[in-house]
Amino acid sequence: MSVQESEALANYKKEMLDQSFRDSVATINKQGNRNYIHPQKPKGNLYNLRSYFSYFYLILFFTLPFIKVGGEPIFLINILDRKFILFGKIFWPQDFFIFAIGLLTFLVFIILFTVAFGRLWCGWACPQTIFMEMVFRKIEFLIEGDIAQQKRLNAMPWNGEKLFKKGGKLLVFFLLSFLIANFFLGYIIGIDEVGKLVEEGIFVHFGTFSALVLFTLVFFFVYSWFREQACIIVCPYGRLQGVLLDKNSILVAYDYVRGEPRGKATDVNSGDCVNCHACVRVCPTGIDIRNGTQLECVNCTACIDACNEIMDHVGKPQGLIRYASENNIAKKEKTTYTWRLKLYTIVLTALISFLAILLITRADVSARIIKTPGQTYQLYANGKISNLYNIKLANKTRKLIHLDLKLENLNGEIKLINLIDVPKESYFQTSFFVTTTKDQLLKRKTKIKVGIYENGIKIQTAEATFLGPTL
Ligand code: SF4
Ligand code: SF4
Repeated sequence: MSVQESEALANYKKEMLDQSFRDSVATINKQGNRNYIHPQKPKGNLYNLRSYFSYFYLILFFTLPFIKVGGEPIFLINILDRKFILFGKIFWPQDFFIFAIGLLTFLVFIILFTVAFGRLWCGWACPQTIFMEMVFRKIEFLIEGDIAQQKRLNAMPWNGEKLFKKGGKLLVFFLLSFLIANFFLGYIIGIDEVGKLVEEGIFVHFGTFSALVLFTLVFFFVYSWFREQACIIVCPYGRLQGVLLDKNSILVAYDYVRGEPRGKATDVNSGDCVNCHACVRVCPTGIDIRNGTQLECVNCTACIDACNEIMDHVGKPQGLIRYASENNIAKKEKTTYTWRLKLYTIVLTALISFLAILLITRADVSARIIKTPGQTYQLYANGKISNLYNIKLANKTRKLIHLDLKLENLNGEIKLINLIDVPKESYFQTSFFVTTTKDQLLKRKTKIKVGIYENGIKIQTAEATFLGPTL
C-alpha cells in the first residue's frame, strides 16, 4: 500500500469513528415521522442485469401455480390443511422430520451464502426487492417521472394533474396488489381453489375471499407506503447481517482507500470520490454507502451503477463502489476460502446428504398402530387370546391403495374389521384384532410386529404391544 493510500485509510478510519449515523435510520426523521425516500431512477449495466433476472423471476412466480404434476400443483404451502408440495412431492405432517431437516439445511445454506456473498439474495432474488424495485418503483417512475418530477408533483397543490397521477398510480398499485394476492393465495390453497372463487362466488368461498382481501391490502400497504421499511425494520434476515458478515464477505462496498479524501476530480491530492452524492441519490433505502456496511443496505447495486457512470465521466476507472470484501479493500487481499466457510460447507454437505437419504427412503405410506384405549385382552374358551388395535394410515401417494396386514413375529392371525382401502392423499383409520395362543407369549407384554403389504409386497413394519394374562 502506498503512503498516500495508508494516509487515506487512516483518515477514513478516523472519520468512521464517528458512528452517530448508525443511531438513526434514513427513513425516520428526528421527530420520529416517516422520511419518505425518493430515489433517483437507477440505470447501468447491473440494473439492466437485475431487470432481466427479475423478468425471469416474475414469469416463474406467475406461471408456477399453473404447473401441475399428477393433477397437483408443483408447489403448494397449504398451512391450513397441513399439506405441502415441493417440486411435485407431497409432504405431510408425518414428514415433519424431513421438513425440519430441510429447514435446517436451508438455514445453513443461507448462513453460508451470506457469510460468502453478503446480501446478494436481498438485491437479486428477494420477492420484496423484486416487486418493489422492479415492478412498483418502475410503474412509479413511469407515471410520476424521475426524482425531480416526483418532488415537483409532491409540492404542487392538488390540481387535475396531481390527482390524475397520484390517483392513477394508487389504482394501478391496488390492481397489481390484487393480482399478486391471487397468485400468492394460489401458492397456499392452489390456483384452482382461487379460480372457484370467480366461478362460484364469494359467498360460497368466503374464507378464500377474506384471505384475498387481506393479502391485497397488505401488499398495497407494503408497496405503496411501507416500502423499504420492510427490509429495514421487519425483515429478520437483514438484522442477522451483523452477526453473519465478516471481513471476507463480499458486499456492495465503497473503496475508501481509493476514494478518500473526497474532493474535486482535478485536485491531485484528492482520492477518486468527487463527492457528487450520485450514489446516495439512487439509494432506495436512503443511505450513504461511503459510511461503510449498514443494516439498511439491501445490496441492490444501484450505487455501483451510479458511481461507475460518474467515474466514466471524470475519466477514472470504474469500481469505486463495487462488490468487494473489507479485506479486499483495506489489505488488497484476494477473496479466500476461510476456515469458517469450510466448516459451514462441511455441515451443509452433511445436511444435504442426510436430507437426500431421507427423501429417497421416505415411505409412501405411514402407519401407526396403537392398542385401542380402554381395552385389555380377551381370553377365549379355546385358550386363544386377542387384543384390539387401532391403525392410523396416511397415504402420501396420488393413488388409492389397498393394504393387507400380517403378523410377523408370532404365530397368530389378524382379523380386520374393515378392508384397508386408503384413498389418495388421505388419512385412514380402522381397527383390527390380533389373536394368538398363550404359548406364544413369554411375558405379560409382548412386542408384536405387523407387516403392511401392498399387492403382496411389504412396504412397512409397524410395532405394537400385545397384552396377555400374567404368566
Ligand atoms: S447503498 Fe447501494 S447497494 Fe446498498 S441499498 Fe443503497 S443503493 Fe443499494
Ligand atoms: S457516486 Fe462515487 S464519486 Fe459520487 S459520491 Fe458516490 S462514491 Fe463518490
